[in-house]
Amino acid sequence: MTRLIDVPGMAALMRQVGIAPFMRELAQRIRADYLRWPEFEKSARLASHSDVGVIELMPVSDAARYAFKYVNGHPGNTALGLPTVMAFGVLADVATGYPRLLAELTLTTAMRTAATSVVAAAALARPGSRTMALIGNGAQSEFQAIAFHDMLGVDEIRIFDVDEQATAKLRRNLATAAPALRVVVARDTATAVRGADIVTTVTADKAYATIVTPDMIEPGMHINAVGGDCPGKTEIHPDILRQARVIVEYEPQSRVEGDVQQLPPDFPVVELWQVVGGQQPGRESARQVTVFDSVGFALEDYSALCLVAELAEKHGIGMALPLIATGEDPKDLYAFALDGNGNALRVAA
Ligand code: NAD
Repeated sequence: MTRLIDVPGMAALMRQVGIAPFMRELAQRIRADYLRWPEFEKSARLASHSDVGVIELMPVSDAARYAFKYVNGHPGNTALGLPTVMAFGVLADVATGYPRLLAELTLTTAMRTAATSVVAAAALARPGSRTMALIGNGAQSEFQAIAFHDMLGVDEIRIFDVDEQATAKLRRNLATAAPALRVVVARDTATAVRGADIVTTVTADKAYATIVTPDMIEPGMHINAVGGDCPGKTEIHPDILRQARVIVEYEPQSRVEGDVQQLPPDFPVVELWQVVGGQQPGRESARQVTVFDSVGFALEDYSALCLVAELAEKHGIGMALPLIATGEDPKDLYAFALDGNGNALRVAA
């Protein structure tokens, strides 16, 4: 049977494992999977755009497992009482095609995005980075803050959002989730960014937004640009990119979706797997500005689905879902149309 991890199941798993240990484990998995990059069959995600958002399918596979994620991005959703990003995904056996896991991925996406940000920042931020500006205090923000605090040693975070309620929510949640983390509410983006070692942008706006402008940037900063992830949806002024070392996840996808969409196709970028594997350096000097132009890649969801499957099994979470019609005789699919007495169910004309 297929194991179903629904939202209550995923929330139970997060509570049982703990969010920080979960993201720590996930970061290790993501790193390990990026290290075996050539083993994966990869493609840019398939996107269906509308005026208000995007719906995307993200497939990836290795020799043993096939994964896909369904995910959307609708910045206007929160005004309708829905999350901006909603997702679910499947993990299947390559040998048979049988789907082993069907899982919610809205919560999981927030954890895998933060874990990936840390994997990149570990190679790109200056060693000893302690302060981070966090611009955009919505659904993803707690996970980013906790991951950087727990795994990278960030001990002060300056937060700003155009929505004061979102900032108040983030501050409240971090007070219990990470009591040792100093949280400073900034009056604007420039104030939050001033003197920060790391700048994380995780805003949602379907526009060529310029959340961070060149005048805010200081030598040696690392920018973790998470919110610009779709054609016509950016956060970083192109002049910042022009002066920086830019790391992307999967070039064919990032050229279209990332902040680098604002630059010509021959603008040099380096893929994350090359940095993680040591084929390319991460940061090259203390004064260099580095940018992780994150859009989210299917490989990270593969890593997350594999981890969720293992943890769910270990903790006995989830339920068996009869998703696939498999009877006694696999050639007799019609048997499912018969009632208990062997009579065929009426088929509407
Ligand atoms: P959200 O809607 O919950 O939060 C976004 C926040 O950004 C809101 O609170 C909004 O008020 C704020 N904001 C908008 N414009 C702003 C501005 N100019 N200055 C400051 N704050 C501003 O969305 P979310 O789930 O937190 O996602 C945030 C972004 O991250 C989205 O664009 C989403 O598509 C993207 N995302 C990327 C990845 C990835 O892998 N790169 C993964 C998940 C989400």
